Amino acid sequence: KKVQWAKLKNEPTVTKEGQHVELVANIGTPEDVEGVLNNGGEGVGLYRTEFLYMGKSQLPTEEEQFDAYKSVLEQMGDKPVVVRTLDIGGDKELDYLDLPEEMNPFLGYRAIRLCLERDDIFRTQLRALLRASVYGNLKIMFPMIATLDEFRQAKALLEEEKQNLSNEGVAVSDNIEVGIMVEIPSTAVMAKQFAKEVDFFSIGTNDLIQYTMAADRMNERVSYLYQPYNPAILALIHNVIEASHAEGKWTGMCGEMAGDEIAIPILLGLGLDEFSMSATSILPARTQILNLSKEEMASYKSEILSMNTAEEVVEFVKAKANL
Ligand code: PEP
Ligand code: MG
Repeated sequence: KKVQWAKLKNEPTVTKEGQHVELVANIGTPEDVEGVLNNGGEGVGLYRTEFLYMGKSQLPTEEEQFDAYKSVLEQMGDKPVVVRTLDIGGDKELDYLDLPEEMNPFLGYRAIRLCLERDDIFRTQLRALLRASVYGNLKIMFPMIATLDEFRQAKALLEEEKQNLSNEGVAVSDNIEVGIMVEIPSTAVMAKQFAKEVDFFSIGTNDLIQYTMAADRMNERVSYLYQPYNPAILALIHNVIEASHAEGKWTGMCGEMAGDEIAIPILLGLGLDEFSMSATSILPARTQILNLSKEEMASYKSEILSMNTAEEVVEFVKAKANL
């Protein structure tokens, strides 16, 4: 199997009828890029920037960040690189920020919520990203967006820093797409409104499932409720994809679900544009998609969305996609 996969390294990812689907990778550091290219990744769909901030005693400087972003962008050439701004909090802590303990960290002060309040931290990251943007094909995305107002505030800060850099005579790319992660149910429900203002969506199913099912993604006791194939989750995903396409925008997915062999046929049928996964999943996913018909999967859409349970969905997809 490994030999078969290797042959596909430089091949495009197309469905049976020849439609292109973008297969990209999740990374955490510039060192991960080598693995992305070796596994035939068509881009980076999620660069988790938290690692720059973790395992040290102070915030990373603008220069340190600039070097990391530039390195990733240069290595990827003209392939797209979606960088997620700081998503700290929840399961990822930073001792040096000395944040008060919270009763529900996953529902607390984290990610964009923290960045909008500590705009000193956020602006430093945005400046580093903007300066690096001339070295490749950068797209910026904000994590944990719950309201349109949060997106507008984050975007305004980005525009301000762009202006500041331009006043300082620093070159910045003029075609950086700005999108959001859809990982909070309110945002998935309001996708139609968001789609008018964002350039793209990337669905973060790791969190979207936990928040929709009210089941902690780390808690074994309630893991039976952590159901990627639950029709409620599929309905939210469907809503996001439809809303983006109605506005001529694209939707990706960067949660674990994007690389899952049962989810892939469903997501293909729902019209997902970009699948972002761990680098080692890319060639197996490409192999699977080569043998799938998007048209056929799309024809099952309403049947799947009206099913009653996750089990029903799994059974159906296994039969239709030969799994
Ligand atoms: C997600 O929530 O699906 C996601 C990709 O982000 P993280 O796993 O970093 O929370
Ligand atoms: Mg998340």
